Amino acid sequence: MFNKSLIIAGSFLLLFTACSKVPITGRRQLNLYSESKMVAMSATSYDEFLSENQPLDPGHKDAQLVSRVGVKISEAVERYLKENGHAEMVDNFDWTFNTVDDPTINAWCMPGGRVVFYTGILPLCQDETGVAVVMGHEVAHAVARHGNERMSQAMGIQAAGMTLDAYLETNPTGFNDLLMQSYGIGAGVGSLAFSRSHETEADKLGLVFMAMAGYDPREAPKFWKRMSELGGEKPPELLSTHPSDETRSADLELFMPEALKYYKPN
Ligand SMILES: [Zn+2]
Repeated sequence: MFNKSLIIAGSFLLLFTACSKVPITGRRQLNLYSESKMVAMSATSYDEFLSENQPLDPGHKDAQLVSRVGVKISEAVERYLKENGHAEMVDNFDWTFNTVDDPTINAWCMPGGRVVFYTGILPLCQDETGVAVVMGHEVAHAVARHGNERMSQAMGIQAAGMTLDAYLETNPTGFNDLLMQSYGIGAGVGSLAFSRSHETEADKLGLVFMAMAGYDPREAPKFWKRMSELGGEKPPELLSTHPSDETRSADLELFMPEALKYYKPN
């Protein structure tokens, strides 16, 4: 009897320590894997991607635009987390912003703050504020550690109780394959969509981050409307990994008054 309750207490303790709260939304999440491992493995995948997809020269005007927005958004993230006592959440981040000359309508941020924009998404962004909508949203997925949650769900190993290490031993390329699917990278591998709750969370965080960086968050619903109008039979990569529906615009409008509290125009 004593042993049993000790075990139960022990598992609660494990659950408690693995459980953390997402800033801004306060949602509790269970991350079973070490975030530092996720970040380290993502760094390898990111470098691999860039070795196969030559990024634009940093002096190119598109690369400069993406970098400028990225730096402002990342500064807003760090300021927000510091003011709210969560500075440690981006301790192991190594903010990196690259733009690839590719007509695909896509952009993503891997764990650790490693970002890629495709030039194909820039016309849809229209201007710097549009880039900030996408940057804020993508960075929010990384800050909220959605990668950790969705990779574990996709691997289906939470239920099996297998550790990430054990999974990788039996399937060494598994991490990279899943990561590629997670961001709609590469043809023919299929895409892994973020869940509705992750999308809503990234939208809310993204609005706050862009507002703090000096960009008008009221541009976000307009961007997503333009994006969803491109749907249809062959939706853009960004839509396949970030499913959009009417709930999104309703949620964005609901959260807008809160986001506007953070908005100081540049
Ligand atoms: Zn998303």
